[in-house]
Amino acid sequence: MSQGQILTADIVVAGLGPVGAVAANLAGAAGFEVLVLEKEFEPFALPRAIVFDAEIMRVFDQIGLAEEFAKITRPLGGSIYLGSDGHPIRSFHSASPAHSQAWWQSNIFYQPQLEAALREGLTRYSNVRIQQGSSVQSVVSTDEGVALGVKDRSQGGFEVKARFLLACDGASSTVRKYLKIELDDIGFEERWLVIDAHMNGPMRWPDSYEIPAEVRDDRYSLMVCDPRQPATLIPGVNRHRRWEYKLRANESDEEARQPTRIRERLSEWVDPDNVEIIRSAVYRFRALVARSWRHHSTFLLGDAAHQTPPFFGQGMCHGIRDAAQLIWRLSLAFAHNEKLLDGYQAEREPHVREIIAASVRAGAAVCITDPARAEDRDREFRAIEAARKGTVAIADIVPPIKSGLIDSETGGRRLPEFAVLRSGTLRRLDSLLNGRFTILSVRTDLDQGQEHLEEWSTLGGQSLAIGDQAWLRDVEGRFAEWLVANKAIAVLVRPDRYIYGMACTVADLHRLVACLLAQLAPDQALQFADAYAEGEERRGPLLIGQAK
Ligand SMILES: Cc1cc2nc3c(=O)[nH]c(=O)nc-3n(C[C@H](O)[C@H](O)[C@H](O)COP(=O)(O)OP(=O)(O)OC[C@H]3O[C@@H](n4cnc5c(N)ncnc54)[C@H](O)[C@@H]3O)c2cc1C
Repeated sequence: MSQGQILTADIVVAGLGPVGAVAANLAGAAGFEVLVLEKEFEPFALPRAIVFDAEIMRVFDQIGLAEEFAKITRPLGGSIYLGSDGHPIRSFHSASPAHSQAWWQSNIFYQPQLEAALREGLTRYSNVRIQQGSSVQSVVSTDEGVALGVKDRSQGGFEVKARFLLACDGASSTVRKYLKIELDDIGFEERWLVIDAHMNGPMRWPDSYEIPAEVRDDRYSLMVCDPRQPATLIPGVNRHRRWEYKLRANESDEEARQPTRIRERLSEWVDPDNVEIIRSAVYRFRALVARSWRHHSTFLLGDAAHQTPPFFGQGMCHGIRDAAQLIWRLSLAFAHNEKLLDGYQAEREPHVREIIAASVRAGAAVCITDPARAEDRDREFRAIEAARKGTVAIADIVPPIKSGLIDSETGGRRLPEFAVLRSGTLRRLDSLLNGRFTILSVRTDLDQGQEHLEEWSTLGGQSLAIGDQAWLRDVEGRFAEWLVANKAIAVLVRPDRYIYGMACTVADLHRLVACLLAQLAPDQALQFADAYAEGEERRGPLLIGQAK
C-alpha cells in the first residue's frame, strides 16, 4: 500500500476476530467485494471463548467449514454447579444430537485454532482482500457509504471507500468511539483471573468437593460456587484446560498473575509441576450494550455492539449470530430494500439482552462471597432442581427471536436440524437451504395455481418437499412428525434458519408468503444466496446494482 492510495469495496470489515472473520466468510460467499482491515498481524493470543453452541456450528456449515471445525472441537456434555458445602446444587445438560447429521449442542474449542481456520477459510474467496497491520483511525459514515482513514503499520496510511462498514473491532471498538456511540451499562462488573494451561499429568480432584463423574472424565465443566473462592473449571480440547477465579477487591491484577500465586491456586486441582501455563489474564466481566448498532452505512457487530459475562459462553456466539443475520439483510438491501437494515438492531438487540440478563443472573449467583447469601442461593437452586421435571438443556438459554422479520404468532424459533436422503445419500437439510428463504413441506402440490407462490419462486425463494414421494426423503419420518407436532403443513424458513412462520393450511401459507414478500420488496428480484449453492461456481457480486 502506498500513502494516499484509496481502496474500494462493497463491504469493509474492521477487525478480524472471530466475528469479523465469520462476517467476511459469509460476505465472501455471498459474492460481495470485501475488504478486511485488521490492526494486528496475528490472531488475539489471550484466552477467551472456549465453547460455542450448535447454532454456531450451523453458521460454520453455511460457510463450508463445519466439517473442518468438527475435527478441532469436541462436545461439552454440560455444566455442574457446586454449592458452598461442596455438593452439586444445579446442572445444565446438552442433549446428544438428534440424529447422525446434527451437531452437538455445545462444542469446546481452542480460540486461536478456530480463528486460524476461519482466516484460512477466507483464502477461498478471490473477492475477499485482507489488510493486516492496518488500523482504522477515522470514519465518515453517511447514507451513501463510508470513508475510512487507515493507518498501515508498515507503510503509513491509506483511505478506504465502501458502501457498508461492519465494525467487528471488539470491545474497545475504535469505530464505535469515533462515531460517539455510547454503551448502556446493564450493571455487572466482576474481575476474574483466567488461566489456560496444557496438562502434562492427571487432575487430582480435591476430597473437599463432591466432584461428579461427568466432571472427572472431562465431559462437563464445573462451577465452584464456594463463597471463599468462586471458580470455574473447563476441560478443553486435547491437553488444554481452563481455570477461572473470581478476584477479591484486595488482590491486584498483578498479584493474581504472579506465577507463584497461580501455582498456589492450581495446586488444589493438579500437581502444578504437571501443568504448563500457556497464559493468564485478568478480565473485567461486564454487561454492556451499544445504544445504537447502526450509524448510517456502518453496523456494529460482536463485542463492538455488546459484551456479555461469559457464564453461559455466549459472547462470541452473539456476534456470529449478528453476522449471520446481517449478511442476508445486506444482500437484500443491496438489491432493493434498504429498510430491511433497520431490522438488524431491532431484532438482534432484544435477543442479546435476554441472554445477557440470563448470564448476569448466573454470574451474580456464582460470584456470591457472603456465606449466608451463598447458603440462601444453594437452598433456592436445590429447591428448583428438586421441583424440575427433566433437565435444563444448554440450548434453552438461547431464546427464540420475538420480534423482527417473523410472523409474530408462529415464527422466531430455530429450525431443528433434520437429515434427508437425496439420491440415496444422507444429507443435512441445512445443506439444501442454500442461504435462501425456503418453504419446507411434506406436500408437493403447494405451488399449484397460486400467484404468491409463483412470485415467490420468481423472486428467488425456494420450495422443498420432503417425504416418501419426493426427491428428498425424510429420514425416519422426523420432519413429518415435527410438522404434525406443530399442527403445520409447511414451514417458511429464513436464510439464517430461523423460522419466519408456520402454516397449518394452504391459505395460511399464502398469507405468510404474501406478508414476507411485502416486507422484502415484492416488486424486485431476490437475487441473493445462489452463491451458497453447493457445487456452483462462486459468482461476482450478486446484488450490487442488479435490482431489476
Ligand atoms: C474469559 C472469557 C471467556 C469467554 N468465553 C466465551 C465462550 O466460551 N463462548 C463465547 O461465545 N464467548 C466467550 N467469550 C466472549 C468472546 O471471547 C468474545 O465475545 C469474542 O471474542 C468477541 O469477538 P469479536 O470478533 O467481536 O471481537 P475480538 O475478538 O476482540 O476481535 C476484534 C478484532 O478487531 C481488531 N481491531 C481492534 N481495533 C481495530 C481497528 N481500529 N482497526 C482494525 N482492527 C481492529 C482486533 O485486533 C481484533 O482482532 C469469552 C470472553 C472472555 C473474556
